[in-house]
Amino acid sequence: MNQVKAEAQPVPMSFEGMPRPALHFIDGAFVESAKGGWFDTLNPTTNEVLTQVAEGTEEDVHRAVEAAYRAFHEGPWGRMTAKERARYLVQIADAIERHGEELARIEVADTGLPIAQARGQAARAAENFRFFAEMATRITGETFPVGDAFLNYAIRVPVGVAGLITPWNTPLMLATWKIAPCLAAGNTAVLKPAEWSPLTATKLAEIMQEVDLPPGVFNLVHGFGEVAGDALVRHPKVPLISFTGETVTGRTIMRNGADGLKRFSMELGGKSPVIVFDDADLDRALDAVVFGVYSLNGERCTASSRLLIQETIREEFEARLAERVRRIRLGNPLDPATEVGPLIHSEHKTRVERYLDIGLREGAVMAVGGDVPEDLARGNFVRPTLFVDVKNDMRIAQEEIFGPVLVSIPFTTEEEALQLANGVSYGLAAYIWTRDLERAHRLARRIDAGMAWINSQNVRDLRTPFGGMKMSGVGREGGHYSFEFYTEWKTIHVALGQHPIPRFGLADHAGA
Ligand code: NAD
Repeated sequence: MNQVKAEAQPVPMSFEGMPRPALHFIDGAFVESAKGGWFDTLNPTTNEVLTQVAEGTEEDVHRAVEAAYRAFHEGPWGRMTAKERARYLVQIADAIERHGEELARIEVADTGLPIAQARGQAARAAENFRFFAEMATRITGETFPVGDAFLNYAIRVPVGVAGLITPWNTPLMLATWKIAPCLAAGNTAVLKPAEWSPLTATKLAEIMQEVDLPPGVFNLVHGFGEVAGDALVRHPKVPLISFTGETVTGRTIMRNGADGLKRFSMELGGKSPVIVFDDADLDRALDAVVFGVYSLNGERCTASSRLLIQETIREEFEARLAERVRRIRLGNPLDPATEVGPLIHSEHKTRVERYLDIGLREGAVMAVGGDVPEDLARGNFVRPTLFVDVKNDMRIAQEEIFGPVLVSIPFTTEEEALQLANGVSYGLAAYIWTRDLERAHRLARRIDAGMAWINSQNVRDLRTPFGGMKMSGVGREGGHYSFEFYTEWKTIHVALGQHPIPRFGLADHAGA
């Protein structure tokens, strides 16, 4: 037990191109906060200060929204053809690829994501822009002919200034997942990234400047959620808010935006099951179970954080699993061999560790986990942890831990697996491993999850709707579903002939 292979720290920490300090980007220019405030962003590997970040307040948000509003109503963006906008998106994608290594390393510095995975995220960020550039040119309307009398048609129009609020996990990928469809549809944007991971957003703003995106189309305001984020949510000139983050925050935001009747897209937390039946390809299932929860440092909304394992294979599978978890390479995230890096922040580390104590107090057995090696003590490292003998009503089985922690719960029958899978408040993702495809499809339909994968790890197809049920969210983004959110339907009725118009006001005398 507890023999995680800890890497020494041979890889130097140099982060070329890091924005120092990190400024807001408003109306095409990098600016400090109106009130002059700053906060630090830390390197989770060492807890040293990486740089200062401009601390946005209501005034900065107001400036950014005004710039975005002008760009939407007076600038060229809204009047461009989709093809012209798509050209910008492709240029952004190219620039992200050109700066891919720099972006990946900055993400590592700011979040502790292992470099190999951060490179994948940078590539996906470029892909997000390329994909929505293509989708933009496919936005179509509908026609409703009424014989010779009318031709009615409906078109999709952009909504206006979008407030985009993102979390600290995979910040670059998630920001681009929102910015790309938002701009593709003709809106303008104000991004408020998470305060624990502000740097790749700043680098992205540099890229927007590099490709000469018209001023005000993309704006960035740093700052804390309760101040800068809240100002964005309440701003009267921001009709739509796309939020990714915790369920509790999502609720607060919906409440605060209710007076303005905002349109919301809510991508929230998860506690997703991975169900392994005894007839599955157990080697592949094992790979997927391990990767599904420990990749991205376990800070993944769609993490398969609850293993539901059929009793007939439980002992053998858990033993193999424990062996793999023990061998996960925990260490310096700049080392390409590292599989799990430090958690985003010391506060988050404390939160995750609290769950480890809770699990033990609840009577679960920690098969793998415990102290981290001394040479990693300065960073926010938590050893990949596996709990067995877990009951579904334990807090570690119910609550989102958002770290490298897996709980294993046994089941006997398909029906029991379904009850356990659905026995949480969340409903984001589900993973099913079985060779019985009838059973797999049956379960996929009945599990409360916005997305299910059968005999697969989390491989995304950007055309499909992404989002969750229950406490995991409201709405879907991805493919043309993103445009359901980022555009408004407008219906136009055209008379083609002399249809009857009731004639009022022809009486001899005014009515009594
Ligand atoms: P968080 O809710 O603490 O913060 C997210 C963002 O909201 C940050 O930018 C924060 O500054 C801002 N914010 C906080 N309070 C606010 C307020 N009152 N008004 C406006 N903005 C406010 O989330 P986090 O800890 O940064 O991220 C982790 C969470 O995100 C996890 O729960 C995870 O499951 C979830 N997540 C979900 C998805 C998904 O697609 N469903 C994807 C990634 C992460």
